[in-house]
Amino acid sequence: KLDIFEKIANVFGSNIKEQTVHAVDNVSFTIQQGEVVGLVGESGCGKSTLGRLGCGLHTPTEGTVRYRGQPLESESGVRRPVQLIFQDPFASLNPRMRVLDIVGEAPRVHGLVDGAQQRDYTAALLTRVGLDPSYMQRYPHQFSGGQRARIGIARALAVKPEFLVCDEAVAALDVSIQAQVLNLFMDLRDELGLTYLFISHDLGVVRHLSNRVVVMYLGRVAEIAPTEELFAEPNHPYTQALLEEIPRIDRKHRTFVPIRGEIPSPLAPPPGCHFHPRCPKAMPRCSVEVPTLREIGPGRLSACHLNDPN
Ligand code: SF4
Ligand code: MG
Repeated sequence: KLDIFEKIANVFGSNIKEQTVHAVDNVSFTIQQGEVVGLVGESGCGKSTLGRLGCGLHTPTEGTVRYRGQPLESESGVRRPVQLIFQDPFASLNPRMRVLDIVGEAPRVHGLVDGAQQRDYTAALLTRVGLDPSYMQRYPHQFSGGQRARIGIARALAVKPEFLVCDEAVAALDVSIQAQVLNLFMDLRDELGLTYLFISHDLGVVRHLSNRVVVMYLGRVAEIAPTEELFAEPNHPYTQALLEEIPRIDRKHRTFVPIRGEIPSPLAPPPGCHFHPRCPKAMPRCSVEVPTLREIGPGRLSACHLNDPN
């Protein structure tokens, strides 16, 4: 049991125009070793912030992030067992570095390999992610988007991580290339026993990969459920709205029902249930009382007053 996220509360208080933005507020969940947890929600809901907290790139203003029971922020330097795979691999690859150094430098710094082994080590990693080892002499601009995504994965794997946080890791890629990279992620999980937090706005991607899904809305968790249960029987009105947004290509008439209304600003989230201005099932108490995330079945949690008999 990894206990990666044990308690994260009121995290990421950043001052924007003298207002504190709680990008992630009172979020608490645990990821088990070997699990693939999908984290979904519209842009600005705090998914990326949560991902960065999970790798120790942000420190919560309140609460703690634990990895194998130990607070993540107590470790010094780069959190080697937890690696982040970025949204845009091109932006995160130094254009003046050869792939040999992009992939091979961190393991050398961490003492996993010495200078003499760096080349062979990098070659093996490139082969593992489906790239020709001779590519190690090249620079990032000489690759396609899909190849750069693979370089980013090789770089993360180079320090022998246990847990990967993938933030929109395939969002920039063509659909056919996406599928190949997603398959690579799954092969690596089976082979290396990796655990994933897979952040995506794309429910199709999350459904394909995840054992369990966490749905976020404006910095709070709306619902947590095993993947197939979530898709078969979403509980939270926000999850229901998100699922209705997916075009049903298997149907005769494609339905596309965007969630009504704009996402409110995180600077001034609506009181009570943050979703109430957009919720088709909102009741008077929804604009006043914050719904608590409560158990609604085995392994299922939802934060909606409709589940509350009172
Ligand atoms: Fe809708 Fe109320 Fe449930 Fe929020 S608590 S999702 S507003 S019904
Ligand atoms: Mg993001």
